[in-house]
Amino acid sequence: WKNAVTFVSISLAAYTSWKYYQAVLRMSTPPVKQSVDELIGDTPLVLIKSLSKATGSHIYAKMELCNPAGSAKDRVAFNVIKEAEQDGRLVKGKPGWVFEGTSGSTGISIALLCNALGYRAHISLPDDTSNEKLSLLESLGATINKVKPASIVDPNQYVNAAKRACEELVKNGGRGIFADQFENEANWRIHYETTGPEIYKQMNGQIDGFVAGCGTGGTITGVCKYLKERISPHVVLADPQGSGFYNRINYGVMYDKVEKEGTRRRHQVDTMVEGIGLNRITRNFEMGEHYIDASIRVTDDQAIKMSKFLSVQDGLFVGSSTAINAVAAVKLSKNLGKGSRIVIIACDSGSRHLSKFWKTAKDIDRDITLEQVMID
Ligand code: PMP
Repeated sequence: WKNAVTFVSISLAAYTSWKYYQAVLRMSTPPVKQSVDELIGDTPLVLIKSLSKATGSHIYAKMELCNPAGSAKDRVAFNVIKEAEQDGRLVKGKPGWVFEGTSGSTGISIALLCNALGYRAHISLPDDTSNEKLSLLESLGATINKVKPASIVDPNQYVNAAKRACEELVKNGGRGIFADQFENEANWRIHYETTGPEIYKQMNGQIDGFVAGCGTGGTITGVCKYLKERISPHVVLADPQGSGFYNRINYGVMYDKVEKEGTRRRHQVDTMVEGIGLNRITRNFEMGEHYIDASIRVTDDQAIKMSKFLSVQDGLFVGSSTAINAVAAVKLSKNLGKGSRIVIIACDSGSRHLSKFWKTAKDIDRDITLEQVMID
């Protein structure tokens, strides 16, 4: 009888310990993601050591390039689809199309997410889009419609072509949405709901400066709305040469009128930098314009040199718009003073820009100094 009691006690103790061990193991193992879309967001923030050491500020990069399709646009593509599912324009588990006119990161994010979520992507783009972006879209299996480069006022311009293709599908009884990243407010909303709070938390609410470029305006609007509702960071829009935002923010004028009259052949600006800079006002920019304190103009030459500098000094291999932000952050650090805490957006990786921007950047001397980078 005594032996039986001892046996039961030992078994019970062993069982409890085993269960306890399993519970501890479960808690210490990172949860498994159930689908690729769950990898979006919660991107890390990394100190850019070289720039921080040289300026005496703490300059951090929000690594949006760590998203599964390689840029902040994953958040936008996901939210556009999610909002369409909520209002019934797309239905989970049923065939549906996402249309967009883009030569940039958004198309790649849409194509990848459509695959992850069971939809199809239709991307219209100008026929001079770089080969690497084209083959990425082809590899992801998107339907591609190449059109002649044209002004936004031309019905055959690629954004208008995407919109029309969507309208035709819906008219014929198909299910589809036009993502419309420039005007669709699902864009800034997701940065307000995710990117802004992430940055705020990662910085413990201590942010003196924030720097981002502006393509659609979604990132700067969403992040700055969230931050400015809580703290007062100095917000800088980093603008490439030839873009109208610089004048718009600093002097209240833009080349918008020229664009509306259709005298500009294309609304793209004269720069090697991709994804940012515009000569018209979009809904996503308009919504956050009042949060922006200043704009700093950065030349292509500075951006090219900065990208090489960051690659060699920090192992940060970034695309052109990130390099622009880094140049503007160095300038901003002079105004904010030593010890200030500045966050920049690292939008995408250099590998997206090998055939154009990095073709020039790779030949820059690896011993280039920050002073040489900043010469304009
Ligand atoms: N950098 C890159 C590489 C981009 O593709 C974009 C988006 N066009 C941006 C920056 C700017 O982001 P947003 O559209 O949110 O202004």
